Amino acid sequence: MEPQKEARTPPDLIVRPSGALRSQTLSEEERQEGGASLVASTLGAEADSASADGLWELPVEPAERRPECSRCSRPQKVCLCPFLPVHPLHISTHLYIIQHPAEENKVLRTVPLLAACLPQDKCKVKIGRRFSEERDVELSTVCRKSSTLILYPGAEATDLEEFILDSPVYPSTIIIIDGTWSQAKDIFYKNSLFRLPKQVKLVF
Ligand SMILES: [Zn+2]
Repeated sequence: MEPQKEARTPPDLIVRPSGALRSQTLSEEERQEGGASLVASTLGAEADSASADGLWELPVEPAERRPECSRCSRPQKVCLCPFLPVHPLHISTHLYIIQHPAEENKVLRTVPLLAACLPQDKCKVKIGRRFSEERDVELSTVCRKSSTLILYPGAEATDLEEFILDSPVYPSTIIIIDGTWSQAKDIFYKNSLFRLPKQVKLVF
């Protein structure tokens, strides 16, 4: 009787109750995972660009009130100017940076750093989401030049390095879109102007 009971008892303990326990535990884990990933998304860790977009609207950045360096536009305490070249770098290509309006207010702004390293006349920043031939005559002219490239990855994009090696003419202007992936995608596909220049990508 005793061994029989023992033999029957473990399945009772393991299969049925633990099955119920397991499903309970799983749903508990799922809840926890759900909660954890929500926290991760909220914190921006591994968040996709769509949820990251919303982050910049959160009122958590008192940076605007801190004194800023006039050259690199970073708060003076974390000014990066000592690490930047003393004199602007000589480049033959013009950079035309199309900046999503949300990028302008970010703490980690890279465009002012880039602009601080380049001659003023070689780096132009234009802020906005929509551009047209009528309103943006200068940009439109730049986009229509055969020596203008736009840096945007995709199946049709040529490796920039290969393009420069193969091309007899050095690009006069490279257009760069500054924003998250979803912001850049929106700007690239919703503005027909940006489909005019040859599309290039960086291959690492
Ligand atoms: Zn600085």
